[in-house]
Amino acid sequence: MCAVDTSGDPSRDAALVVVGSANRDVTVEVRRRPGPGETVFGGDTRTGTGGKGANVAVAAARLGATVAMVGSVGKDVAGDELLASLREAGVGTGLMRRGERPSGAAYITVTPDGENSIIVSPGANAALGAEDVHAAREMLAGADVLCTVLEVPLEAVRAAVCVAVASGVRVVLNASPVVTLDAATMAAADPLIVNTHEARWLLGRQDDAAVDPAGSARELREAGPRSVVVTCGARGAVVADGSGEITWVRAEPVTVVDTTGAGDAFSGALAARLAAGAELVVAAEHAARVAAISVTVRGTQDSYPTSADVP
Ligand code: ATP
Repeated sequence: MCAVDTSGDPSRDAALVVVGSANRDVTVEVRRRPGPGETVFGGDTRTGTGGKGANVAVAAARLGATVAMVGSVGKDVAGDELLASLREAGVGTGLMRRGERPSGAAYITVTPDGENSIIVSPGANAALGAEDVHAAREMLAGADVLCTVLEVPLEAVRAAVCVAVASGVRVVLNASPVVTLDAATMAAADPLIVNTHEARWLLGRQDDAAVDPAGSARELREAGPRSVVVTCGARGAVVADGSGEITWVRAEPVTVVDTTGAGDAFSGALAARLAAGAELVVAAEHAARVAAISVTVRGTQDSYPTSADVP
């Protein structure tokens, strides 16, 4: 048995619809990560709301975009909290599914250099299907931008991309965590957003191969997407636009506290700006400013700025 959460307003107009995951984040700071069979002590546990889809939705809503989310949470306390945090940020949750599986969770370790490692337990996210997207068809077809992430079943992602393409809605595809994508989904992406690890994987390179972000963006674009953004942490991001032109967007120099969720902040800010009618490079410059602010504050959604905080 599953139910749609009808406590929000499913018919609200959303400029940006996010199809993706919502997870409870459980974070511990460690001096170093344990090896196999080893136990290490960490700091106090912090819990918060996350998941790539919810992060993107919250980042965009904080910046003033009208956002609705299509996703799936459990009928548990974590599900209540995840929905409440989306609504608090102003995200429409009227088409969020609530099922029997437990809400998704992410177990995150952060080391002193600000780097994170994450184990995701998908739970209810894995139950999101094409039928949930079809229930949101009208809202999706009326949006300016669809932003989707790959922490939910590909069937749901494909269904959302099909509706968007048929309705002339721009598709922002954050291919994280990376999986093999079909040609039609790749071709719809405008842009495909990947970090350097994901770019390397999609290009079929060795795990330890050096990545040239500009070359990777060009090569990925030639493989199908209308445009590509390769994010490169403290170095910023590279945009390959619709004409194939390459532009480096530099990262703001900041003191890093916690990089968790920087990629999602970048995607949410980029999608929000595209929904407001900005050009891709301008949207990416804005996204880099937003993501730089997010790495200066501990936490994921808690670190996302409002438009008043962005210079
Ligand atoms: P995560 O998995 O941590 O959410 P990611 O690997 O998907 O992130 P990154 O390339 O690390 O994505 O970061 C996304 C964007 O965030 C970068 O393109 C950059 O604009 C910004 N950013 C990340 N790290 C820093 C940093 N140290 N200083 C300034 N900006 C940063």
